[in-house]
Amino acid sequence: MKSPEILKVRIGKDLVIGDPSHIVIQTMCNTHTDDVDATVAQCKALAAAGAELIRITVPSSKDVPCVREISRRLRSAGVDTPLVADIHFSSRTAIEVAPYVEKVRINPGNFHPDHEEAKAQLARLIEVCKEHGTAIRIGLNHGSLGKYITELYGNTPLAMAKAAMEWLQLCIDNDFYQVVVSLKSSNTVVMVDAYRHLHSMMEEAGVVFPMHLGVTEAGNGDSGRIKSCVGIGTLLEMGIGNTIRVSLTEDPVAELPVARFLSEYYSGKPISMPESRERTMLEAACKYGPSLLMHRSDTLALETGLGAGFDSYLADEIMQAARRRFYKPEYIACPGCGRTMYNLQEAFEQVKARTSHLKGMVIAVMGCIVNGPGEMADADWGYVGEGNGKVSIYKKNVPVLMHVPESEAPDKLLELIEAEQ
Ligand code: SF4
Repeated sequence: MKSPEILKVRIGKDLVIGDPSHIVIQTMCNTHTDDVDATVAQCKALAAAGAELIRITVPSSKDVPCVREISRRLRSAGVDTPLVADIHFSSRTAIEVAPYVEKVRINPGNFHPDHEEAKAQLARLIEVCKEHGTAIRIGLNHGSLGKYITELYGNTPLAMAKAAMEWLQLCIDNDFYQVVVSLKSSNTVVMVDAYRHLHSMMEEAGVVFPMHLGVTEAGNGDSGRIKSCVGIGTLLEMGIGNTIRVSLTEDPVAELPVARFLSEYYSGKPISMPESRERTMLEAACKYGPSLLMHRSDTLALETGLGAGFDSYLADEIMQAARRRFYKPEYIACPGCGRTMYNLQEAFEQVKARTSHLKGMVIAVMGCIVNGPGEMADADWGYVGEGNGKVSIYKKNVPVLMHVPESEAPDKLLELIEAEQ
C-alpha cells in the first residue's frame, strides 16, 4: 500500500514545512524576551546566518507585548523570518500570543493536570490559530510528558508517540492541519525510537504531519555537534523529518552551519560548508553514526587524514553519540533560552572541568529551575540555575542541595558524587 503523503504546513507567507525537497533549518533565541533590543538584534543575526524559522520563549502573558514589538521591529527592518512562540505551561499565554507570531510551540499535556481540561484548552487555542493563520507545533520532550500518559505507558518512547498521536487526533477532530510535531530526547536511541513509533502510527492512521527533529540538551562543542548529527541523521536517512534544530549550549548562531550541513547532506544538495575539521567530523558522524545506532554495524575504522589521534577521538565520540560505547561522562546541557537563570555556558564548562573523569555517568546542566528538572529525564546528577547567583543540585530527579552559591557549586557537586562512590 502506498504511504500517505506528508502534509504541507505553511508558516507565515512563504515557508512550507513538509516539502520533500527541502529540510527547513531553525533555531531559538537565548535572550530574555522582555529585553526587546537584545532579542531583535539576535533575531537579525540568526536570520542573516540562515535561520528559516526563529523561536523565542514566552514565559507569561506579560511577555506578549514584547513579542508583538519584536515582530513589528523585525518586519519594519525587512526581516521576514517567521517567529515561533515557545510556550511551556500556559494555554492562556499561547492564546494571547498566537495572533502575533507565525507558529506556537506547545506541549498540551502540560496545559492542565486534568486531561479533559487540557484537551479543551488545546481546542480553544486551535480556534485562535485558525482565525489568525498561525501554525502549531506539538512538541513533547522525554521527561516532560503529562501524568495521564506516563501512568498508562511509563516514560517511554512509545508513551511519547501515543501522547503525540492523541493531540494530533484532537487537531484532526477540530479540522486543523497546520501542525508540526516533535518528540525530542537527549538520548539518541530514545529519540529515534519515539519518532519511528510516531511515524508508523501516523502512516497507519492515514494522516502524516511533518516532523521537527532535534536531540534536546545535546551539549556543546564537538560532542554536541556529533550527537545531533547521529540522532537527527539516523531519522533523516530513513526519510523521517522535515525541519531540524541542532540545539547547542553556545551562541545560537553556531547552530546554523551544523543544521545547514544536515539539511544539505540529507537532501542530496551540494554541501556549502568549506572543507574543514568540522566538516570532516560532521560527515563521519552522518556516515557511520546511523548504522551504529541502528546496530547495522558494531565498529568503525576512520581514516580522515587528520592524524591517528584525531581518528581515534572521533571514533570514540561517534560511538558514544550512538550509545554503543561510553568513554567519558554523558553531558546533558540545555541550550538556554529566555528563561535561563545564570551564565549557562560558563557553568557547563566548570562542571565539565570537575567531572570529566566520571566515565559513563550522566550529568545534566540546566538553565532554569522551572523546566530544567523536568527536562533532564535520565540524568544521574543535575546542576540547575535557580537565579540570584544560586544553584540547585539534584540526584536523579530529587533536589539534594539547594541555594548553593554559584562559585561553590561545581565543587559541591563533585563532593556529593564522590561521597556516593
Ligand atoms: S531548561 Fe534551559 S532551555 Fe529549557 S526552559 Fe529552562 S533555560 Fe530554557
